[in-house]
Amino acid sequence: MFGSGRFSGLRVLKEGLTGNKGWTPHWRDPEPKSEYDVIIVGGGGHGLATAYYLAQEFGLKNIAVLEKGYLGGGNVGRNTTIVRANYGLEGNSQFYSHSLKLWEQMEQDLNYNAMMSQRGIINLFHNDGQRDASIRRANAIVNQGDDAEIIYRDDLKKLLPYLNFDNNRFPIMGGLMHWRGGTARHDAVAWGYARAADQLGVDLIQNCEVTGIDVEGGKVTGVQTSRGPIKAKKIGLAAAGRSSQVAAMAGLTLPLESHVLQAFVTEGLKPIIDHVVTFAEGHLYISQSDKGGLVFGSYIDYYSSYAARGNLPMVEHTMETLVAMVPSVAKARLLRSWGGIMDMSFDGSPIIDKAPVEGLYLNCGWNYGGFKATPASGHTFAHLVALDRPHAAAEKMRLDRFRTGRGIMDEEGTGAQHNLH
Ligand SMILES: Cc1cc2nc3c(=O)[nH]c(=O)nc-3n(C[C@H](O)[C@H](O)[C@H](O)COP(=O)(O)OP(=O)(O)OC[C@H]3O[C@@H](n4cnc5c(N)ncnc54)[C@H](O)[C@@H]3O)c2cc1C
Repeated sequence: MFGSGRFSGLRVLKEGLTGNKGWTPHWRDPEPKSEYDVIIVGGGGHGLATAYYLAQEFGLKNIAVLEKGYLGGGNVGRNTTIVRANYGLEGNSQFYSHSLKLWEQMEQDLNYNAMMSQRGIINLFHNDGQRDASIRRANAIVNQGDDAEIIYRDDLKKLLPYLNFDNNRFPIMGGLMHWRGGTARHDAVAWGYARAADQLGVDLIQNCEVTGIDVEGGKVTGVQTSRGPIKAKKIGLAAAGRSSQVAAMAGLTLPLESHVLQAFVTEGLKPIIDHVVTFAEGHLYISQSDKGGLVFGSYIDYYSSYAARGNLPMVEHTMETLVAMVPSVAKARLLRSWGGIMDMSFDGSPIIDKAPVEGLYLNCGWNYGGFKATPASGHTFAHLVALDRPHAAAEKMRLDRFRTGRGIMDEEGTGAQHNLH
């Protein structure tokens, strides 16, 4: 039996004492059927979460997730694992608030240890303008019902003594702390949703690339794949960095550009960084993994690409920023770096909406922030696919905002050209 039984401390003890012979693969490896009620394209965090909620909350039975590689091999396994609900704009604010609440119950719901660690995330500010913006955002976060605390320099020095407070260009004045934010083990999130979806009967089909979307009379009828054609009544696209390419198979041009984002990890070090810290001036974000590696990243590379590797100028920028903020890590050795393909939207916010083709649904535009969205993205997308109407928490994530200009959700104040910021 696959993914059998529940995980528990007792079971770990029993398996440990009996040679660990009772563990089974987390999910089946089924052959694709000729037809499904719902096909989800993309076995990343969002696709797997969508399939889980479709089965678990909306009671759908005949569902497949089609993944061109292996489950969790995309951005869900490449990100810097930051989870938070500290957005300021209406639309994003309620969506990420919904998401954090789902994160907080996810491990119980999925019976899976996702190593959710609410260690607090702090966004540093360096000048009066940033301080005022942080206070405004803190008020918005608190009004949404989430937590935010402004911590000024003297108290911050006690909390984060390793920071360079007196950097000549960017002295640190304080920070906006969001205590319920933190990190989660990214792969485990994909595995947890996959295992739970499989247990509910969802077919998870790996090595199955969608190569075409069949449309007849303005309505989807199925997909062409590297493992043959499969019919479907409804198709949900959750292909993250490849969203534009997959949507083009149905004749759509999405308001997205694909860019590379890199991440880095050092050798394992003794505990130094207890929280997630972000350094606004360099767009740096850093945390320390349970193994001791410092995990960090900064901007996207500034050109469109589908190559999941980065360029050296951004490596140099990221290292400079890191050392400016935490000089003591200059001697740490870098262990590895990697890249992922970001589906950058023009206002920095996602799209969860019906496509202008009947039976086709879009989940994309996650930019570099879609990991924290995983549970809410899956939950609200499943709601849309199952009921054909948006979930209240995602009703502003409309595709037509880019055509009408109304409802643009520009969180960073970078204008409608977020990809160029
Ligand atoms: C370096 C880096 C750091 C990041 N840091 C953070 C962070 O700290 N916090 C945060 O919130 N977000 C972060 N993100 C963003 C986040 O990882 C993504 O927004 C999110 O993972 C995207 O959703 P997903 O998990 O479903 O994507 P993916 O895991 O990429 O899933 C999409 C899947 O679709 C599959 N696919 C594509 N085309 C096809 C096809 N034709 N047929 C079948 N399958 C197909 C892909 O193989 C892939 O597995 C980061 C991303 C990167 C790369």
